Amino acid sequence: MSKLKKHVYRYNPHTLSYEKVKVGLKDKLKHISFGAAFGFLLGVVVLIVGMHVFESPRERKMQREIQQYKRQIGYLNKRMNQASEVLADLEQRDGAVYRTIFDVAPIHDSVRRSGLKGVDRHKELGGYECSDLLERTTSKMDTLTKRLYYQSKSLDDVYSMARSKHERLASLPAIMPIAKNRCKVVSGFGYRYHPILHYRRMHTGIDLAARSGTPIYATGDGVVKVAGKNVAEFSGYGVVCVVDHGYGMQTLYAHMSSLKVKNGQHVKRGEMIGTVGSTGLSQGAHLHYEVIQGGKKVNPVYYFFNDLSPEEYEEVIEAANQENQCLS
Ligand SMILES: [Zn+2]
Repeated sequence: MSKLKKHVYRYNPHTLSYEKVKVGLKDKLKHISFGAAFGFLLGVVVLIVGMHVFESPRERKMQREIQQYKRQIGYLNKRMNQASEVLADLEQRDGAVYRTIFDVAPIHDSVRRSGLKGVDRHKELGGYECSDLLERTTSKMDTLTKRLYYQSKSLDDVYSMARSKHERLASLPAIMPIAKNRCKVVSGFGYRYHPILHYRRMHTGIDLAARSGTPIYATGDGVVKVAGKNVAEFSGYGVVCVVDHGYGMQTLYAHMSSLKVKNGQHVKRGEMIGTVGSTGLSQGAHLHYEVIQGGKKVNPVYYFFNDLSPEEYEEVIEAANQENQCLS
């Protein structure tokens, strides 16, 4: 193959003819580099356009993943809304029922949702396509967490209040110390004629007549403070028992024939502590029962509210109010 020699011709207007022009090395190089630069530039443009118009398999996979994440976050958002509704119901009941029962002010909504605004807490979530969704979801989660914390704390309070109230109620001397069908109220609280000392004096308890040996029960939960015979402090009471119920309440059981408990023993309401007798300054088998509130002896009939019907209660009050001779 013969080598084709390339010539460059230029039109000369003066001679009205084409003249052969000699091309130097420098011009040749210039020509080549211009072509190369143009080709390169064209390549880059095609590549950039291609990248924007067509996706690579990896990009397509990532796009699919992003769509999946978005759907998942949207779903979590919905579930959080549902949880928030359930919590709102619980908060409502907490304020209107639970805390009200124990006479405690409800926690205000502004407190439950406090401390979450004012600071840009989710800076790191900014600048992305789904930043808004992420920020909304995260801040919803923050509020939910805060509200859950307050609700859990409030339920702890209510639980402890219910517990202490329960203990308090269980400690209250609220029953008759002898089964109501096995005793009779013979004398009540107030001035009564003493059968042995033979003069009118303050009767600081109630006398329940019953057969000797009839069981005597603790009227509320407590601790036995005194249990003995002829205790110096309780002269004339014979075999005596004192139960300390806490909250400033005590009960006293006197003239017993026997004791079933010891000093320091914990007793429950309705637990047998001894039996009816006639020890000490007593006329006939009976139980002399006292209720002491804040160091002061009070009328025990006001505490017989747990096991008496309104009619029975009225009967007891009437019998106890009769100013007669007590059995001591
Ligand atoms: Zn008495």
